[in-house]
Amino acid sequence: MTTDNNQTLFQRASAVIPGGVNSPVRAFKAVGGTPRFIQRAQGAYFWDANGKRYIDYIGSWGPMILGHGHPAVVDAVQKAVLEGFSYGAPTEREIELAEAILALVPSMEMVRLVSSGTEAAMSALRLARGATGRKHIIKFEGCYHGHADALLVKAGSGLATFGHPTSGGVPPEAVQHTIVLEYNNIAQLEEAFALHGKDMACLMIEAIAGNMNFVRATPEFARRCRELCTQHGALLVFDEVMTGFRVGLHGAQGVLGITPDLTVLGKVIGGGMPLAAFGGPRAIMEQLAPLGPVYQAGTLSGNPVATACGLATLKEIAKPGFYEALSAKTRTLVAGLKAAADAEGVPFNVDSEGGMFGFFLMKDKPQNYGTVMTTDNAKFNALFHGLLDRGVYIAPALYEAGFVSAAHSDEDIAATIDAARQIFHASQP
Ligand SMILES: *Cc1c(COP(=O)(O)O)cnc(C)c1O
Repeated sequence: MTTDNNQTLFQRASAVIPGGVNSPVRAFKAVGGTPRFIQRAQGAYFWDANGKRYIDYIGSWGPMILGHGHPAVVDAVQKAVLEGFSYGAPTEREIELAEAILALVPSMEMVRLVSSGTEAAMSALRLARGATGRKHIIKFEGCYHGHADALLVKAGSGLATFGHPTSGGVPPEAVQHTIVLEYNNIAQLEEAFALHGKDMACLMIEAIAGNMNFVRATPEFARRCRELCTQHGALLVFDEVMTGFRVGLHGAQGVLGITPDLTVLGKVIGGGMPLAAFGGPRAIMEQLAPLGPVYQAGTLSGNPVATACGLATLKEIAKPGFYEALSAKTRTLVAGLKAAADAEGVPFNVDSEGGMFGFFLMKDKPQNYGTVMTTDNAKFNALFHGLLDRGVYIAPALYEAGFVSAAHSDEDIAATIDAARQIFHASQP
């Protein structure tokens, strides 16, 4: 018997790291089997500890929009490394990155750089509460905003009631001001504002949700979010950690044509390095320390190597035609998957925007988390492992979106569709 190096590494990892992983979904709990330990990556591929190659559709969960090892990005990072890893003092590159972000996201007049999406969302929430002097917040079931206490919450019993913690270690008091509503449910949204509008600090939303697979806010729902926030003096916060520079050059706000008050960014803006950001109008952002009373800080914030990586990435994606090409590629992929499923009579629907996509093993497109969760787990897992065996790596859980990079070739897309076709065919009686 040949040794499985992934299995050996997983056992070794499990002895020293809880669950053998440093972020839960990597552990393959939802789909079963042994997590693949990645050794290296280039372009649209990565290789595991057995030397097996995979076409990569997670791209580090979004950041690797150019593919792995893009020469311009590698060059920028190598140069930056030689100048020092971190100073704890300001640098010109932070200004350049801030200017680049603001130029692409017109709703933002100022931005603060941090190191993770969790930190950015948590800080935006504190800023919204500080700026409004209010406590209550709205979030939606199935949207993920990182793992800050107040945001790790599931819906309470009645409509528009406060939520319950979804994690151990989060006291009910920490989520007592968080109202969890159903995504795309306008009636619930209106009721929550009618009951709690005067105490509402903000509404936080993934306007194209990528943490319950791929579910769009309907245009009417997104518009009501904006209107109700404005009417009640609450801030509309778009969490674009996933969608920012991923669904298009101007994020989900550009796609929907809605201007949020605050925007949270991460993933793509770091190009694979730990970097995230939040920003909005000057008057709100000036509430932050050192100018204002809302405290926020970070030893590695605006890290010189991370900003070099982010800047080089933004430079590439801002080139004319980048998103047109990426969108076309992604559409070819999802259309091909859909055709393959249709040909075998497998219930299947797909959606995509820019370089982000989702598919559901069901006939109709879900509008909310409850419906997403009715997906047949066993069928998804069979598809996941079938693809993995054939060298195609998609997210190891059915409630995750997928990502195409500029490095994916027509051949990669065709090979992916062909692998899916074989699996659909084999799954039919
Ligand atoms: C990934 C993600 C986060 C959390 O970002 P981390 O860098 O993992 O902390 C927050 N919000 C959304 C929408 C995300 O997709």
